[in-house]
Amino acid sequence: MIPKYQAYTLQNLQMIPQIQQLPQAIQFDLQVVGQVYPFRTNNYVVEELINWDNALNDPLFTLTFPNKEMLIPAHYEQMASVIRENASTAEIEAIANKIRLQLNPHPAGQIEHNIPNLEGNPLKGIQHKYRETVLFFPSQGQTCHAYCSFCFRWPQFVGISDMKLASREVDALIQYVSKHPEVSDILLTGGDPLIMKTRVLATYIDALLDANLPHLKTIRIGTKSLSFWPYRFTTDLDAEDLLTLFAKVTQKNKHLAVMAHFNHPRELQTDAVREAIKLIRETGAQIRTQSPLLAHINDQPEIWSEMWKVQTELGCIPYYMFITRDTGAQHYFGVSLVRAWEIFKNAYQGVTGLARTVRGPSMSTTPGKIQILGVGQVKGEKVLVMQFLQARNPQWVRQPFFAKYDEKATWLDKLEPFGEESFFFET
Ligand SMILES: *Cc1c(COP(=O)(O)O)cnc(C)c1O
Ligand code: SF4
Repeated sequence: MIPKYQAYTLQNLQMIPQIQQLPQAIQFDLQVVGQVYPFRTNNYVVEELINWDNALNDPLFTLTFPNKEMLIPAHYEQMASVIRENASTAEIEAIANKIRLQLNPHPAGQIEHNIPNLEGNPLKGIQHKYRETVLFFPSQGQTCHAYCSFCFRWPQFVGISDMKLASREVDALIQYVSKHPEVSDILLTGGDPLIMKTRVLATYIDALLDANLPHLKTIRIGTKSLSFWPYRFTTDLDAEDLLTLFAKVTQKNKHLAVMAHFNHPRELQTDAVREAIKLIRETGAQIRTQSPLLAHINDQPEIWSEMWKVQTELGCIPYYMFITRDTGAQHYFGVSLVRAWEIFKNAYQGVTGLARTVRGPSMSTTPGKIQILGVGQVKGEKVLVMQFLQARNPQWVRQPFFAKYDEKATWLDKLEPFGEESFFFET
């Protein structure tokens, strides 16, 4: 039988029989919080990933279903009261937008800093932050098979983004890259580019292959499809074409890197995902894995070591553990930097060298990706030791630096430099 994609949103939630079994108050919370954050899940997530016997404590339920605590009480009450009053859609949307604007919708200076120029014209849908890698946001790939409740790109999905990241303009991308010989990697990202039909994706990939750019070595595709809709690679009508397209890239001697987003080992357990991983690897592509560290979903070292072990067993390469960004429901999903380092360290100690390709925990900040190396002591005083894994200025990478120890800090902006006026990269 070929599984057919069925999306669930707030409008058709009642089609999920298990939802009707949940307490009324929880169903109401879903309606309230789902007005603010984008909500979407699907039949694979509902039937294959979630443990409905313990839904309210289930990490895979929390992965796509919003809950009350994702809003601070004041915001929750604002939205709950208009819904109780049966306010009009327009009123609800107005309140939703007001709340959203208070949730730091554009973290890490994405708007101001990273849009490149071609002969003086800004290139929409392209970001060039780190020397070797250009990000491309194909316009038809700016949604996902389901939405993560912690998504840092959530403003794109609720239409309040003025980032205008999405682009159809593969020609501009090629022109830009051809003028930048330092670029070896193009990362197609979104949303999820694999939401696109293969023939649409192929227009981008074929153009890149045909452009004959010898310095372009790697095409990366950032995707959550292995986790949210593995049938994209197995039984969907254009699944075979997708694998053929992947094989074409590797046959042209370009490295194809599938940057797969997995948050929990259960996402690696179904027959469908295992079949999909096998088929992708047979095309010559490599799968590298990454995830943020999330309270209520994966904030235990055992979860991470299990995830990295299984990934390595299946031939995937563990790549990044991220710190939850300072946007949206960070107050709910965030883990302190110190705790993040402890979780990373304990998980890392439990896996073989082959899984120690993973780096983290890492914060994607305006100056770059900052790894927490750990807690140290300088002259009897505790410090946080950090380094850049990626930086706006390549010279900053792997230069250790210190911050005053702060057990509660969840992001760089909460940290103070140790022994100096400012961090070295601020001067
Ligand atoms: C993470 C990231 C990249 C890729 O960095 P790698 O360390 O090469 O994986 C590129 N651009 C941006 C904006 C990123 O955040
Ligand atoms: S897959 Fe990525 S872009 Fe899509 S909802 Fe999840 S975090 Fe957001």
